[in-house]
Amino acid sequence: MSLLYPLCSSSKGNAVFLGERDAGILIDAGISVRQFKHSLALAGIEPPAVRAIFITHEHSDHIRGLSSLVSLLQVPVYASKETLEVLIRKDIFPYQSTICEIRRSTAQVAGMEIRAFPISHDAAGPQCYTVTAESGRKACVCTDLGRMTPEILACLSGSSALLLESNYDPEMLRKGSYPGYLKRRIASPEGHLSNPECAQALAELFGEGTTRFILGHLSEQNNRPELAFAAALARLDHAGALLNEDYILRVAKPRTMGEFLEF
Ligand SMILES: [Zn+2]
Ligand SMILES: [Zn+2]
Repeated sequence: MSLLYPLCSSSKGNAVFLGERDAGILIDAGISVRQFKHSLALAGIEPPAVRAIFITHEHSDHIRGLSSLVSLLQVPVYASKETLEVLIRKDIFPYQSTICEIRRSTAQVAGMEIRAFPISHDAAGPQCYTVTAESGRKACVCTDLGRMTPEILACLSGSSALLLESNYDPEMLRKGSYPGYLKRRIASPEGHLSNPECAQALAELFGEGTTRFILGHLSEQNNRPELAFAAALARLDHAGALLNEDYILRVAKPRTMGEFLEF
């Protein structure tokens, strides 16, 4: 069985391990080396199991630990051309790093096929990834998108396990302390997915056969785990699905306690 294992997931830091315990990949690197090692150990994974790092976009909560992790692991980094250009300008990569462009294309790493697809977010060439294991089972990690589209739903469709962004509760964002421009940015088509937008997508994907969900990238200012969970539960309930019978629903923690989904 392969694991979908969020090491950290919030507006402050994101990194997800996907694969078998002895060979997999990391999606995003918004994590310190210390936390990375600690989180992997909780699930019985050694750092050399990570064979490549795939970056979604250049925001700091996704690349904070990239430079140190590349130095530690000496593995290739995959991202879109635009993201790689920003990371090179920021001098993120240690000397002699291997960097690989991926965009609407696939890569083969650790016996898995990783496919990139574009998303709408206020970054340079942002994208998300689906991972198909040798078993043929697919998992997806999809965060930092301002809107769900039929194209993205088609990419996520057929996955066994999915981590989808449930970033903010619209009411908390509206009433919260963020300045107006930031509230507009978060809620814009180039911002983040709200709890109801995420819940709607989960119901559609449940209809296509996905039954294992993790809500991720929750805002620590504009959301609460119970609100995100309740929104998804209500929408799936409306679709006639029973929690823990028809589907599994979890909320990723800002820092993992060792919970993962198998796919
Ligand atoms: Zn982010
Ligand atoms: Zn972002």
